[in-house]
Amino acid sequence: MSQHYAITMPQLSDTMTEGVVVTWEKQPGDKVERGDIVATVETDKAIMDVEVFKAGYLAGPLAEVGATIPVGGALGYITDTAGDLAIEANEVVEEKAQTEMIPHHAGTPIVMPQLSDTMTEGVVVTWEKEPGDAIKRGDIVATVETDKAIMDVEVFQEGFLSGPLADVGSVVEVGHPMAFIVSDAGKVNDTGVTIGADHKVKESHPIKHSDTPRPASLHIPKTAPATAPAVSHPGAAPAPRAVGRKVSPYARKLAGQMGVDLKSLAGSGPEGIVIAADVARARPSMAEVAHSLPQVDVPGTGRAMSSMEKAVSHAMTASLTLPTFDVTMNIDTGKLTKAAKAQGVSVTVAIAKACSVAMEKFPRMNWAYQPVDKLVERPNHDFGVAVKSDDGGLVVPIINGIEHKSLAAMQADWNDLVPRARIRKLAPREFANPTFTISNMGMFGVTHFTAIPTPGIAAILAISATGPQGTPFNITADHRVLNGADVAGYMAELKQVIEAPEAWIAGGAPAAASAATQAKTSAPAFSIPEGSWDYPVVVIGGGPGGEDCARDLADHGIKVAMVHNEPFPGGECLWRGCIPSKAWRAAADIIRNRAHDNEIGITGTDKPKMDWAQIEKHRRWVQQSRGEMALKTDKGMKIDVIEGYGEFVDAHTVKVTSPDGAIRNISFGAAVIATGAPAFVPPIPGARENLSTGGVVTSDTIWNLANPPKKMAIVGGGVIGVEMAQIFRDFGCEILMLERNERILAEVEEEIAKTLIGLLEKEIAVVTNASIDGVTGTPGKMSVAYKSNGGEAKKFDCDVVLMATGKRPDTSKLNLDKAGVALDGAAIKVNSRCQTSQPHIFAVGDVIGGYMLAHTAATQGRVAADTILGHDAEYDQDRDCAVTFSRPQAGFVGLSVAQAKAKGIDAVEAKMPMSIDAKAMITGETDGMIKMVADKTTGRIIGVHFLADHTDTLIGTGVMMVAGDMTLTQVAKAIFPHPTQTELFGELARRILARLRRTAKK
Ligand SMILES: Cc1cc2nc3c(=O)[nH]c(=O)nc-3n(C[C@H](O)[C@H](O)[C@H](O)COP(=O)(O)OP(=O)(O)OC[C@H]3O[C@@H](n4cnc5c(N)ncnc54)[C@H](O)[C@@H]3O)c2cc1C
Repeated sequence: MSQHYAITMPQLSDTMTEGVVVTWEKQPGDKVERGDIVATVETDKAIMDVEVFKAGYLAGPLAEVGATIPVGGALGYITDTAGDLAIEANEVVEEKAQTEMIPHHAGTPIVMPQLSDTMTEGVVVTWEKEPGDAIKRGDIVATVETDKAIMDVEVFQEGFLSGPLADVGSVVEVGHPMAFIVSDAGKVNDTGVTIGADHKVKESHPIKHSDTPRPASLHIPKTAPATAPAVSHPGAAPAPRAVGRKVSPYARKLAGQMGVDLKSLAGSGPEGIVIAADVARARPSMAEVAHSLPQVDVPGTGRAMSSMEKAVSHAMTASLTLPTFDVTMNIDTGKLTKAAKAQGVSVTVAIAKACSVAMEKFPRMNWAYQPVDKLVERPNHDFGVAVKSDDGGLVVPIINGIEHKSLAAMQADWNDLVPRARIRKLAPREFANPTFTISNMGMFGVTHFTAIPTPGIAAILAISATGPQGTPFNITADHRVLNGADVAGYMAELKQVIEAPEAWIAGGAPAAASAATQAKTSAPAFSIPEGSWDYPVVVIGGGPGGEDCARDLADHGIKVAMVHNEPFPGGECLWRGCIPSKAWRAAADIIRNRAHDNEIGITGTDKPKMDWAQIEKHRRWVQQSRGEMALKTDKGMKIDVIEGYGEFVDAHTVKVTSPDGAIRNISFGAAVIATGAPAFVPPIPGARENLSTGGVVTSDTIWNLANPPKKMAIVGGGVIGVEMAQIFRDFGCEILMLERNERILAEVEEEIAKTLIGLLEKEIAVVTNASIDGVTGTPGKMSVAYKSNGGEAKKFDCDVVLMATGKRPDTSKLNLDKAGVALDGAAIKVNSRCQTSQPHIFAVGDVIGGYMLAHTAATQGRVAADTILGHDAEYDQDRDCAVTFSRPQAGFVGLSVAQAKAKGIDAVEAKMPMSIDAKAMITGETDGMIKMVADKTTGRIIGVHFLADHTDTLIGTGVMMVAGDMTLTQVAKAIFPHPTQTELFGELARRILARLRRTAKK
């Protein structure tokens, strides 16, 4: 029989008596693991995650979003049966899912957290609370010393601290209780404690000054839990079964991860079964290696090392397994010191950045040896930089993601890390797993020293005090990963990078320059081929891509011709795309917004009348004015704007046919193709045929409508189709949208799309999985025959049919083969610098596929111009953005969690519904959400996703976060004005940080 557990409204603060359900993060039927966040609830203080500690499947009935539930009341259920979407009213609910993690009567154990991969035990340094003290979520109850730092032990449950407590100074294994939390003050130090065998207690420590007798001992499991060492390979296949041996499944998994041969192991489990602990023992720990080496006895009485001293000792012993060699070079750091000062960053930070810049040519320096006989090739530059702690020891905090971080962002990280490193208050991810290490002892006046690399890095840099021949830079390297030539080459490169900082530190404005353009030194040096050309550069196409490219080139003094087959520049964006559609959207917005005026208390405005002729006049005025402005600017910048159609004659000649038929050949050194992509009409019977009558329109021809239609069929549910559907719905038109795929808005982030689709379906009819049989009729009397999902034949009569079936580059008349330019499908194939297969011919914008957006085209135009000018620039789609001008507007910048994970980034996201934002409530714009995505390792914000009114302005803040490599901490600390929707950015960053803190302590 199925068992069900209630997920109850948690009490998250003393004053909380009820909470409001804000979101469900899982759907009924979803599999739920211990520690999963299933919902968020709003308390009297904040929005909080609801975490469950019971594995199973989420089942309804779920409390509705917006419902107020008393503390302890059921929000939903967890069932142990897959496929149980909801439990019946008369079914038995076993117990509360949350309390499942507290299986005994002593209270919830406070366990020794695992604060780093290598940590197996910790020492209790202080107790910050006394037994019997009331504790709140987030209270620090103790501090513990790990092998690397002293850390706070924070708890996330309310109650009272209860014994038995681990003594100050006692060693507690990771995962073992140090103390307990009880919910009732009367139960503090309860002697009737019984602990389940699954609770691992190494030692118990009676509480001092206690009146109550303590239990003599707690259950100690015979075998310590086998923790996989840091060198394991998560995800590796379990080791094959050993013939004739019994092996536990976990032991096989661990053996697979550690590369241990099961045949050679003796089993210590029941009946000789090989268990995980046997596998863990098969590879000696650092401590075992240390103790197994020949020891030279020293007279006197030794004191026991502290765990930090032990950890250093064991790591240094393990480093004896590294076959190392040294390379030293004197480097003049004068210019770099000056440049760092001018940028307001420390020399240490500037040197770390220089090391990363130099590493681009010598990536091997960042690799690591992995037992046995493996190399880990790491692209991420996470450098540890040694800092002296206040107690005289050495701490090595890590600046993460240096390869794509600006100097300013690195300095911000450094300012945050150093004071905490000095008092050893670093989170594990802030000191664990550096990829390269830097130790600077120059300030102590040492003239030369070498440092010892530890397993996990291939090289360590030791910097000494500046002498008459410069500053000695010494690298000690692991010979299994690097050879002498590698390190010598790297040193020479590093010397060059440090001695010529002007090549990579932009003149005076590093914080403003993107890290991508700032840090690269390895750009292929391009120069315009020499020759007596008519123009050094010809640009074909005068849309956003071509025009921005031509302007950047002209601005740098390059003589450039822009061949464009229309009287005014602007391309699709100005004449058939962004601008006219947003002029219509602006008119439609007024109609839509006024409909809600009476909710706020304004009447008489909710029935605005549309004057189509004036709407069109206004739209055309905007387009004409901007076209004229653009042409004037282009000519003013001395761009030769040539009206005509361009096609290649050969790799250095373009033939231009002007509107009057005159033909002219123009020779060029380099060319840029920016010819866009027209609307694509699939071969649906009657669709192409009716384009000429106007019964069928595309995004190229819809602008010729004499009047807004009363009924319109839209074929295609992409961004353009959705924008048009809502515009015409606001203009009073009945819409049927037909989409052949399973869902519309396929290119929009899944959750944002789902929510937007839900809203759209309230105002327009959407048929997905539709197949269209044909389009017939005359303008004003059109008919679309289609089959819906079930195969039932249907007909929709309408005034006009809009084919919003995408855009596709058409290069058939460009004669690309004569120029030697290759295609990738319909699009022109380019590299990240927008170079085609013919290195002096570039292509940008819609014609190269990818995001077909005006700002993308313009950015690529500037990348091409930069490359032609010999500068270093690349287009980085991971930082690009888009807005869908629906209502509410959808938008994104950077990566979604799914995209980030596909790229191997350990990403985390949080979302806030607009319904909880004060400003959104005031204006009645509560539909939608904002989601923030961050890289867990670096804390960098890598994506922001929107479904909100005013996304078109809100997104600018997200763009700056992603483009500027901002971290969660920076955004969490930024001050956003109240009441504005921008406050949600700070909230989101703080929520993700809180989540990361919590998971780090699990
Ligand atoms: C309805 C609609 C709404 C849109 N809304 C947005 C939006 O809100 N935001 C956004 O970012 N993007 C939007 N877009 C997309 C945007 O219009 C395009 O991505 C952008 O214009 C592409 O710029 P481009 O320079 O690559 O090409 P284009 O703008 O297409 O410019 C290319 C130009 O080159 C000319 N040309 C072509 N071949 C030749 C030749 N052989 N010789 C000479 N000239 C030639 C073309 O006539 C054209 O004028 C929208 C598009 C549509 C259809």
